[in-house]
Amino acid sequence: MSEISRYAPLFESVRIGPVTAPNRLYQVPHCTGMGHALPQTLVSMRAMKAEGGWGVVCTEYCSIHESSDDHPYPFASLWDDGDLGNLTAMADAVHAHGALAGIELWHGGSYVANLSTRVPSFGVRSAPARVDPVQSQRMDRRDIRALKRWHSQAALRARKAGFDIIYVYPTHGYLISEFLSRSLNDRTDEYGGSLENRMRLLRELLEETRSAVGDRCAVAVRYAANGHGDDHLSEDEARDVVAALGSLPDLWDVVIGDYDEEMGSSRFVDEAALEDRVAYVRKLTGKPVVSVGRFTSPDTMLGQLKRGVVDLIGAARPSIADPFLPTKIREGRIEDIRECIGCNICYAHDFRGAALRCTQNPTMGEEWRFGWHPEQVPAGTGGSVLIVGAGPAGLEAAHILGKRGYEVALADAGFEAGGRVSRESRLPGLGQWARVRDYRLGQINRMANVALYLDSRMQASDVLAYGADHVLIATGARWRRDGTGRWHARPIVPLDPSGVYTPDDVLAGRLPGGEVVIFDDDHYYLGPVIAIKLAREGSRVRYVTTEGRVGAWSQNTQEQERSQRALIELGVDIEVNVALAAFEESIATLACVFTGRTHAVPASAVVLVTSRVSDEALYRALVGEDAGVPPRASPQSLPASVQRIGDCLQPALIAAAVYSGHRAARELGLIEPARPRERVLI
Ligand code: ADP
Ligand code: SF4
Repeated sequence: MSEISRYAPLFESVRIGPVTAPNRLYQVPHCTGMGHALPQTLVSMRAMKAEGGWGVVCTEYCSIHESSDDHPYPFASLWDDGDLGNLTAMADAVHAHGALAGIELWHGGSYVANLSTRVPSFGVRSAPARVDPVQSQRMDRRDIRALKRWHSQAALRARKAGFDIIYVYPTHGYLISEFLSRSLNDRTDEYGGSLENRMRLLRELLEETRSAVGDRCAVAVRYAANGHGDDHLSEDEARDVVAALGSLPDLWDVVIGDYDEEMGSSRFVDEAALEDRVAYVRKLTGKPVVSVGRFTSPDTMLGQLKRGVVDLIGAARPSIADPFLPTKIREGRIEDIRECIGCNICYAHDFRGAALRCTQNPTMGEEWRFGWHPEQVPAGTGGSVLIVGAGPAGLEAAHILGKRGYEVALADAGFEAGGRVSRESRLPGLGQWARVRDYRLGQINRMANVALYLDSRMQASDVLAYGADHVLIATGARWRRDGTGRWHARPIVPLDPSGVYTPDDVLAGRLPGGEVVIFDDDHYYLGPVIAIKLAREGSRVRYVTTEGRVGAWSQNTQEQERSQRALIELGVDIEVNVALAAFEESIATLACVFTGRTHAVPASAVVLVTSRVSDEALYRALVGEDAGVPPRASPQSLPASVQRIGDCLQPALIAAAVYSGHRAARELGLIEPARPRERVLI
């Protein structure tokens, strides 16, 4: 059977209430960091998913009323008809490619603090907001009636905007899930007490949404199949809710109660990990079921359909990493799929209030601003390009320049391509990061105009002798050995060099032994991951950070708690809010970041995870110190352009290196690339 026909079940249409999805590939609601703030950016991004073949494309959480304001996160809103324009544009753009448009109506309840509208929040009872030091007001019956009215009005507006699937959203700790919770819901009226009463609001919202819009729109429910823990909604109760409400919605979009796992990073959660907890829903309801699982393998997707786990394959991250994933499966181009690596950089940026981006897909979020298409690039102006360094930046640049028709030579000093992703992917839990390399190598290996030269360290004279028209320097960065970083503006003194290690040493297999202090002033994944590696190798590890938590920034990638738990369980000693102040004679001196008071701990070695320096020696040798001075070479051998990309330009995330390589390659030869900005004007 050909691949195309093997995957045909994924491309069968499916009826969802009054509408029909053209296939089984369903982009579930996901946040974007765009919402109401960047509507054009959002419309173009969602449209790209529909163009790429997703049968259903949904919004992010869409607030139904000003009492549900998640500022500073850019959520979607449908508070009044003034919001119709933006959402109509999205629905129209999705429909233009034959997909259905879904909208996730949302009320945040006690979770939100309404920082923008300054309207008091409300909840099933008065409860503290998720972050801010405020509490909600307890809802009375009049508030419940008002909530139902707002929900129906929002549903009617959503229908007017053209949406086909309208969600009721009793999950993720927001208002409706407060009612389901046995701990939070202490009401004595008909909305509290028994499970029947606690699910009353959900039942009424489903019924009223159906009567408002069910003639033309499907009603979906996004539901945590295993509940929210025994204190809130036990697994048995969650099942009872499904049994009781089974046929009310037209679609069950099922997730699980633990958000860290539902959208866990690949460090901690595998593909299709939700199956055992969501599989029962379809058997109980008889209605179509969609669920997620960071699916990137078409065979895994097919397995889910064949085993009757779901009717539709839900995806957020896989659709971000590859908006054209459905098209590629349909055309049997499996090797072209740009697989999500599960790094959660997408989520992290939304969490930081910034527009969505993706490690694997540098065009994500740039569909409107730069007109970038994930599969198409403008033809080049011809000529040859030498790229030095085959890390993520160099590989991406080679891939895009190759597609644009340039003659590309990609040289790397190492024996394997991939730079930091190859090295880091050998660390515990980071195996899937190698997909950054593998996707690009897979593409360029099939391009006759791209040649990869390994074991080829280039000096400036080699670069000039090569004689390419353009040169991109992608030589990366290395970790500092002197402790300079966020905390220390100057090198740590004293620092016994014989016991100093950096992540580069660990990545190269030079491991410290004995009592090791890891000084994490970087705050992301590398410090904790190295701690895990060294602890597993038998070292006595003390993890020290200037922040208050292990790998503090990784709270943005939904990894922080699991990371800290992993270190605790491995017996790593954790000291937070301290800096390494000195290291000599097998003693590390640690200083409290608040008081400066010091204490000494035994240490045979320290691993400094502080900051990096760009490896720009080659670039400087080519362009001179102020980038305007020509190199000492005959003018005819000078390339037309020499530029740095990736970590060589700015040490940053792998996502930034890929983006940098992509942008340089896409814009090479363009005189004045467009730079539109989306902004609110009066
Ligand atoms: P980025 O993240 O910016 O892509 P990496 O550090 O991952 O950077 O990759 C940089 C790559 O550049 C490494 O694979 C390294 O071997 C290579 N490299 C560094 N200096 C040279 C050089 N002078 N000649 C060839 N390759 C080099
Ligand atoms: Fe996947 Fe990472 Fe891209 Fe998110 S940023 S879609 S997790 S590859």
